[in-house]
Amino acid sequence: MGKRILFLFSDTGGGHRAATNAIIEALDLEFPGEFKADKIDFLRYYSPTPLRYSPELYPPLSRMRMTWKVSYEAANGPMRSRAVNKLTYPYLRRSAKRLLEENPADLIVSVHPLANAVIPRVMRRNPIPFVTVVTDMVSTHAFWYSPAADMILVPTYQAKNRGLRLGIPSSRIKVVGQPVSPMFGEIPETKEQLKKEHGWGKPVVLLVGGGDGMGPVRRVARAINESELPVTLAVICGRNEELYADLTKLKWKIPHFLYGFTSEMPRYMKAADIFVTKAGPGSISEAFICGLPIVLYSYLPGQEIGNVDYVLDGHAGTFAPDPTSVVEAIRLLVEDETAREEMSTASLKLARPDAAREIARLLAQQLE
Ligand code: UDP
Repeated sequence: MGKRILFLFSDTGGGHRAATNAIIEALDLEFPGEFKADKIDFLRYYSPTPLRYSPELYPPLSRMRMTWKVSYEAANGPMRSRAVNKLTYPYLRRSAKRLLEENPADLIVSVHPLANAVIPRVMRRNPIPFVTVVTDMVSTHAFWYSPAADMILVPTYQAKNRGLRLGIPSSRIKVVGQPVSPMFGEIPETKEQLKKEHGWGKPVVLLVGGGDGMGPVRRVARAINESELPVTLAVICGRNEELYADLTKLKWKIPHFLYGFTSEMPRYMKAADIFVTKAGPGSISEAFICGLPIVLYSYLPGQEIGNVDYVLDGHAGTFAPDPTSVVEAIRLLVEDETAREEMSTASLKLARPDAAREIARLLAQQLE
């Protein structure tokens, strides 16, 4: 059997799982059959109460924007993060030990900010290579950067600078891009063929609120519907079943397509013309690869605020923080084809389609 790589992620949002899957997919493509990769939602299965309910608590907690912001910032500094890690260690230690005993591995890859302090500390006596893959883009939390990590892979130079400011040596941080499924860059069909496959007309506005259908997706969809813009609206509700049910009951005035959670995101995104989303790092990076103009309708305070500037500075999209401005942003892109093309080109310029494959190669090097 090949060497074992253990990925630690959690379903707090859809991004950590999507990034993990992308790296595992890339490992299979780069090194077919060479490694045995396992992934564990470590918060759900190997953490004490109430932390084990993080995947369920994440959507409602992140909706309380002020509380979220304050708790996010409370530990977001070198001293404060160290203090929190020290205080919580006795509470987390036993579950972390059990995780390592029950899941022996030759390399551990953390794809979540909350695994980076406790896991290396627990395995201090029996060290296994430990790599962190940072899946937030710009405004990255201090919890991502552990001095005990052998390598920290980050999506942007801003994320690397953050690590340097937190005291991580430059040689241990590599800028590789956001890991997204290699499929995003490798779909053979054209946009037109994919549109036909989905039964979509054009231009197509694709509306997504991350893996959990988060943010005011309902209100945004309603406003686009009321505007009667000459578009087809496709909404991917992710795991938000209530959102899906609500939208099916809407009095629709424009051509529309509603979907629940899908594993076919590359095929939907490549077929779309305009992407409306919250500022999730996974969704944004996937949109770059598909060359999509991006309309950001919201962001999660803390980890997603920097993503908004990243998109705007790169001229790949606009920020439209209320449903009316979303409609105006779409109208502009629909009416001005040149603006749409320019934004699409700018979006493509920020793409890192090979990030997951590069990460796979770096992980393999760690095991040499
Ligand atoms: N996603 C998916 N299926 C869905 C909805 C979303 O695979 O039905 C994926 C999406 O392609 C992206 C991830 O979920 O890779 C969402 O990550 P992001 O960082 O954008 O937001 P999060 O959900 O983590 O807040």
